[in-house]
Amino acid sequence: MTKIISVDETVNGIREDLKEWSSKFLSVHGRMPSLVSIIIGDSKEADVYAQSKVRSGRRIGVEVTARNIDPDLGQKKIEDEIRKLSDDSRIDGIILENPVPKELNYISLLSCISPLKDVDCMTPYNQGLISMKSQIVLPATAAAVDQILKENFPEVRDVAIINRSVVVGKPLSMILLNRDCTVTVCHSKTRDLRKKCASAEAVVVAVGHENFLTRDYVTDNSVVIDVGINSTQNGIKGDADFDSLNGFVRAITPVPGGVGKLTSIKIFQNLKLLMDRSA
Ligand code: NAP
Repeated sequence: MTKIISVDETVNGIREDLKEWSSKFLSVHGRMPSLVSIIIGDSKEADVYAQSKVRSGRRIGVEVTARNIDPDLGQKKIEDEIRKLSDDSRIDGIILENPVPKELNYISLLSCISPLKDVDCMTPYNQGLISMKSQIVLPATAAAVDQILKENFPEVRDVAIINRSVVVGKPLSMILLNRDCTVTVCHSKTRDLRKKCASAEAVVVAVGHENFLTRDYVTDNSVVIDVGINSTQNGIKGDADFDSLNGFVRAITPVPGGVGKLTSIKIFQNLKLLMDRSA
């Protein structure tokens, strides 16, 4: 029997802690903790991410503001805007939503966010701290995957990740390595991908292709962590072929309702960690 991994209890627990924290903060400071979600240009995707944070913030007691910035301002003025937000003592956390228009230098924009307000752990400074095992926060998605593995399968040590992005694969590989896992980081040029995945105890898939991960990549002892989010005619689907893997593998996360659900609340948990550090 395949275990369908639920994150509900974990998410509810984190939410209750955060509600208590935000209400204490309000009573002491006379305002709610605040988070600004920056959208550059008119990306529908970035807007959806921002609005979802606004809704989650309402449930937790965090004031989330979506701030649109006109890409025509150009690199320097946009950087000035981000620095201004970052220096504002009434703003506790900042996130730069993706996608950012290609003509802008994304890393330079990220570098304008104070590491102590970097709720998605995307600044070069905070990313660097992970490899030194000295992080204050972790990128939300990578942290969510790590928590799911740690809570449900603490004995799992060999992990294959199909993704090498700075959002998922690179930080996750470091996080897992830091807690003594052996990690195989795979990508589109990896040879013998199926074999590498099948020989791991857990496979984390984040390629962005519906039904990518089939039975050929796993064994009946595999744990499958599906990070993919694909909008299809039948709704949101992951990267794993859920119907064929369910009943075959040891365990699998559902999409929606798995990694994504935990990732959403991790941003707010990071906000709390950073504010505690700044206090
Ligand atoms: P990305 O930067 O495009 O990374 C995709 C990765 O998949 C790359 O490393 C790519 O390899 C690899 N890949 C693509 N096709 C492959 C193939 N045929 N064989 C092996 N590897 C392949 O995307 P991302 O931002 O990391 O996001 C990946 C997926 O995760 C997307 O579906 C995204 O929506 C989802 N996501 C979910 C959450 C969540 O909270 N659940 C958060 C973030 C992202 P190369 O490096 O060689 O190109």
